[in-house]
Amino acid sequence: MSALAVVKYGDPILRKKTAPVADAADVEPYIEDMLETMYEEAGMGLAANQVSLDMNFMVVDISHVEEDEYARTFINPEITGKEGTSEMEEGCLSVPDIRATIERAEKVRLLYLDDEGVEQESWFDGLMSRVIQHEVDHLNGILFTDYLTPAKRGLITKRLAEIAETGAPSTGIIL
Ligand SMILES: [Zn+2]
Repeated sequence: MSALAVVKYGDPILRKKTAPVADAADVEPYIEDMLETMYEEAGMGLAANQVSLDMNFMVVDISHVEEDEYARTFINPEITGKEGTSEMEEGCLSVPDIRATIERAEKVRLLYLDDEGVEQESWFDGLMSRVIQHEVDHLNGILFTDYLTPAKRGLITKRLAEIAETGAPSTGIIL
Protein backbone atom coordinates (compact mmCIF):
# COMPACT_ATOMS: atom_id res chain seq x y z
CA MET A 1 0.00 0.00 0.00
CA SER A 2 1.09 3.54 -0.48
CA ALA A 3 -0.38 6.87 0.45
CA LEU A 4 -1.57 9.07 -2.39
CA ALA A 5 -1.22 12.84 -2.79
CA VAL A 6 -4.33 14.72 -1.66
CA VAL A 7 -5.08 17.58 -4.05
CA LYS A 8 -5.80 20.96 -2.51
CA TYR A 9 -8.21 23.82 -3.07
CA GLY A 10 -7.56 25.35 -6.50
CA ASP A 11 -7.05 22.04 -8.31
CA PRO A 12 -9.70 21.89 -11.06
CA ILE A 13 -10.50 18.21 -10.41
CA LEU A 14 -12.14 19.27 -7.13
CA ARG A 15 -14.67 21.29 -9.15
CA LYS A 16 -15.54 18.53 -11.60
CA LYS A 17 -18.51 16.19 -11.32
CA THR A 18 -16.82 12.80 -11.26
CA ALA A 19 -17.46 10.15 -13.90
CA PRO A 20 -19.80 7.27 -13.01
CA VAL A 21 -18.12 3.97 -12.15
CA ALA A 22 -19.17 1.34 -14.70
CA ASP A 23 -18.01 -1.70 -12.75
CA ALA A 24 -17.32 -1.96 -9.00
CA ALA A 25 -14.18 -3.95 -9.85
CA ASP A 26 -12.72 -0.76 -11.40
CA VAL A 27 -12.36 0.89 -7.98
CA GLU A 28 -10.86 -2.12 -6.22
CA PRO A 29 -7.21 -1.32 -7.09
CA TYR A 30 -7.54 2.06 -5.33
CA ILE A 31 -9.38 1.23 -2.11
CA GLU A 32 -6.42 0.24 0.08
CA ASP A 33 -4.33 3.23 -1.00
CA MET A 34 -7.23 5.60 -0.44
CA LEU A 35 -7.86 4.22 3.05
CA GLU A 36 -4.16 4.49 3.90
CA THR A 37 -4.11 8.08 2.63
CA MET A 38 -7.18 8.92 4.72
CA TYR A 39 -5.77 7.34 7.88
CA GLU A 40 -2.39 9.04 7.43
CA GLU A 41 -4.10 12.43 7.13
CA ALA A 42 -6.52 11.63 9.99
CA GLY A 43 -9.56 12.11 7.76
CA MET A 44 -12.93 10.38 8.16
CA GLY A 45 -13.79 10.29 4.47
CA LEU A 46 -12.04 10.66 1.15
CA ALA A 47 -13.56 11.22 -2.28
CA ALA A 48 -11.78 9.79 -5.32
CA ASN A 49 -11.25 13.19 -6.93
CA GLN A 50 -9.34 14.30 -3.82
CA VAL A 51 -6.60 11.91 -4.97
CA SER A 52 -6.94 12.94 -8.65
CA LEU A 53 -9.18 10.03 -9.69
CA ASP A 54 -12.08 11.07 -11.90
CA MET A 55 -14.33 8.32 -10.56
CA ASN A 56 -17.58 8.56 -8.61
CA PHE A 57 -16.71 6.73 -5.39
CA MET A 58 -15.54 7.46 -1.87
CA VAL A 59 -14.26 5.74 1.25
CA VAL A 60 -15.48 6.52 4.77
CA ASP A 61 -14.28 5.19 8.12
CA ILE A 62 -15.47 6.65 11.44
CA SER A 63 -14.71 3.54 13.50
CA HIS A 64 -12.41 5.56 15.79
CA VAL A 65 -15.52 7.47 16.90
CA GLU A 66 -18.28 4.87 16.53
CA GLU A 67 -17.39 1.34 17.59
CA ASP A 68 -19.73 -0.57 15.30
CA GLU A 69 -18.59 1.31 12.19
CA TYR A 70 -15.99 0.03 9.71
CA ALA A 71 -14.19 1.08 6.53
CA ARG A 72 -16.90 1.53 3.92
CA THR A 73 -16.73 2.09 0.17
CA PHE A 74 -19.61 3.88 -1.55
CA ILE A 75 -19.69 3.63 -5.35
CA ASN A 76 -21.88 5.99 -7.44
CA PRO A 77 -23.49 7.33 -4.24
CA GLU A 78 -26.67 9.34 -4.63
CA ILE A 79 -28.61 11.02 -1.85
CA THR A 80 -32.25 10.03 -2.36
CA GLY A 81 -33.77 11.44 0.82
CA LYS A 82 -33.08 14.02 3.53
CA GLU A 83 -34.61 14.66 6.94
CA GLY A 84 -34.13 17.38 9.51
CA THR A 85 -31.20 19.76 9.91
CA SER A 86 -28.11 19.80 12.08
CA GLU A 87 -25.09 22.02 12.53
CA MET A 88 -21.61 20.57 12.84
CA GLU A 89 -18.06 21.85 12.50
CA GLU A 90 -16.32 20.54 9.38
CA GLY A 91 -12.84 20.53 7.96
CA CYS A 92 -11.44 19.09 4.76
CA LEU A 93 -8.16 17.46 3.77
CA SER A 94 -8.26 19.52 0.55
CA VAL A 95 -8.86 22.79 2.45
CA PRO A 96 -6.34 22.50 5.31
CA ASP A 97 -6.50 24.55 8.51
CA ILE A 98 -9.93 25.99 7.79
CA ARG A 99 -12.88 24.75 9.84
CA ALA A 100 -16.45 26.00 9.82
CA THR A 101 -19.84 25.15 11.27
CA ILE A 102 -22.06 24.05 8.41
CA GLU A 103 -25.78 23.29 8.39
CA ARG A 104 -26.77 20.09 6.60
CA ALA A 105 -29.51 17.48 6.75
CA GLU A 106 -29.64 15.46 9.98
CA LYS A 107 -30.35 12.18 8.16
CA VAL A 108 -29.80 11.12 4.57
CA ARG A 109 -30.94 8.17 2.53
CA LEU A 110 -28.16 6.95 0.25
CA LEU A 111 -28.37 4.79 -2.87
CA TYR A 112 -25.01 3.25 -3.81
CA LEU A 113 -23.10 0.17 -4.82
CA ASP A 114 -21.01 -1.46 -2.11
CA ASP A 115 -17.47 -2.70 -2.71
CA GLU A 116 -18.85 -5.94 -4.13
CA GLY A 117 -21.03 -4.08 -6.62
CA VAL A 118 -24.27 -4.85 -4.78
CA GLU A 119 -26.86 -2.05 -4.84
CA GLN A 120 -27.75 -0.78 -1.37
CA GLU A 121 -30.07 1.93 -0.13
CA SER A 122 -30.32 2.96 3.49
CA TRP A 123 -30.62 5.85 5.94
CA PHE A 124 -27.63 7.25 7.79
CA ASP A 125 -27.63 9.70 10.67
CA GLY A 126 -25.24 11.46 13.04
CA LEU A 127 -21.58 11.69 12.08
CA MET A 128 -21.96 9.14 9.28
CA SER A 129 -24.65 11.27 7.62
CA ARG A 130 -22.43 14.32 7.93
CA VAL A 131 -19.37 12.66 6.37
CA ILE A 132 -21.48 11.15 3.56
CA GLN A 133 -22.93 14.56 2.65
CA HIS A 134 -19.48 16.18 2.65
CA GLU A 135 -17.97 13.44 0.44
CA VAL A 136 -20.92 13.21 -1.98
CA ASP A 137 -20.53 16.98 -2.42
CA HIS A 138 -16.86 16.44 -3.35
CA LEU A 139 -17.87 13.93 -6.01
CA ASN A 140 -20.16 16.60 -7.47
CA GLY A 141 -17.53 19.35 -7.40
CA ILE A 142 -18.81 21.08 -4.25
CA LEU A 143 -16.67 22.10 -1.25
CA PHE A 144 -17.89 22.81 2.30
CA THR A 145 -16.64 26.38 2.05
CA ASP A 146 -19.23 26.96 -0.71
CA TYR A 147 -21.91 27.05 2.02
CA LEU A 148 -20.38 29.96 3.91
CA THR A 149 -22.14 33.32 3.94
CA PRO A 150 -20.45 36.05 1.88
CA ALA A 151 -19.23 37.67 5.12
CA LYS A 152 -17.57 34.47 6.35
CA ARG A 153 -16.24 33.70 2.90
CA GLY A 154 -14.56 37.07 2.92
CA LEU A 155 -12.59 35.95 5.98
CA ILE A 156 -11.06 33.03 4.12
CA THR A 157 -10.58 34.44 0.61
CA LYS A 158 -6.90 35.16 1.21
CA ARG A 159 -6.38 31.80 2.93
CA LEU A 160 -7.97 29.94 0.00
CA ALA A 161 -5.64 31.74 -2.39
CA GLU A 162 -2.69 30.73 -0.20
CA ILE A 163 -3.81 27.09 -0.23
CA ALA A 164 -4.13 27.18 -4.03
CA GLU A 165 -0.63 28.59 -4.24
CA THR A 166 1.35 26.76 -1.53
CA GLY A 167 -0.93 23.97 -0.24
CA ALA A 168 -1.57 25.60 3.14
CA PRO A 169 -2.77 28.95 4.53
CA SER A 170 -0.34 31.11 6.53
CA THR A 171 -2.79 30.97 9.47
CA GLY A 172 -5.69 28.69 10.33
CA ILE A 173 -9.23 29.78 11.20
CA ILE A 174 -12.39 28.33 12.72
CA LEU A 175 -15.64 29.94 11.55
ZN1 LIG B 1 -13.42 17.32 2.11
